[in-house]
Amino acid sequence: MVKAEGVHKSYGPVQVLKGIDLEVAPREVFCLIGPSGSGKSTFLRCINHLEKINGGRLYVDGELVGYRQQGNKLYELKDREVAAQRRDIGMVFQRFNLFPHMTAVENVMEAPVQVKRETKSVARERALRLLDRVGLADKAGNYPSQLSGGQQQRVAIARALAMEPKLMLFDEPTSALDPELVGDVLDVMRSLAEEGMTMIVVTHEMGFAREVGDSLVFMDNGVVVEAGNPRDILTNPQHERTKSFLSKVL
Ligand code: ATP
Ligand code: MG
Repeated sequence: MVKAEGVHKSYGPVQVLKGIDLEVAPREVFCLIGPSGSGKSTFLRCINHLEKINGGRLYVDGELVGYRQQGNKLYELKDREVAAQRRDIGMVFQRFNLFPHMTAVENVMEAPVQVKRETKSVARERALRLLDRVGLADKAGNYPSQLSGGQQQRVAIARALAMEPKLMLFDEPTSALDPELVGDVLDVMRSLAEEGMTMIVVTHEMGFAREVGDSLVFMDNGVVVEAGNPRDILTNPQHERTKSFLSKVL
């Protein structure tokens, strides 16, 4: 579903991603861990072309992200084509970024109506179904300010799902939440995983990675240091850098 080949990303002279190779299979839950500044968010942003890579190749569902290849040459896609690629990728951030002036159900309806030109009644029906699925059927009419952080994050997940993505990217979706609210969000992610959604999850929740993750990558300083089965890596890390990181977070 996602394939990275030697992905490089720099900001000016600062190299942030220094040749990332990895592959995420369909239906896989792929967890990404690593210290602050190691490039995890940057990598996620490259996957939906919010950042342009400076080298290597990045594919989603077999399509080159942001470019078209003709012979040996790469041509940048037009904004409209980039938007079409992005439509298939849901993203959930640490901060929930809901529209404050819209209710939960309106937040979830927004993209299908605006982007896909769906009728409001069709979009609303799906939105209510999705809110039910994330355990918020009774909060459809609440504004974000009337929801807890965990509830807002579940609305954000429902909003991403409303576009019926084939891939979901999560960037530390629970790290801004009070501890007692984390579980509900992880439960929603777990049920998504069980339904077969392909997910890349940047997280510090090692329990989630261990129980739900199919693969785990430890990234440090713009490179993949260690990759494999989460249970193996978390119980028996091979690299010093992984050991030292895990000793701080476990
Ligand atoms: P964290 O765990 O703190 O979220 P991260 O692994 O997600 O960290 P990134 O946000 O990907 O790390 O950042 C990687 C490096 O890239 C950092 O050194 C950061 O300062 C730098 N960086 C990120 N975005 C930009 C930008 N727009 N311009 C310049 N430098 C940037
Ligand atoms: Mg980050």
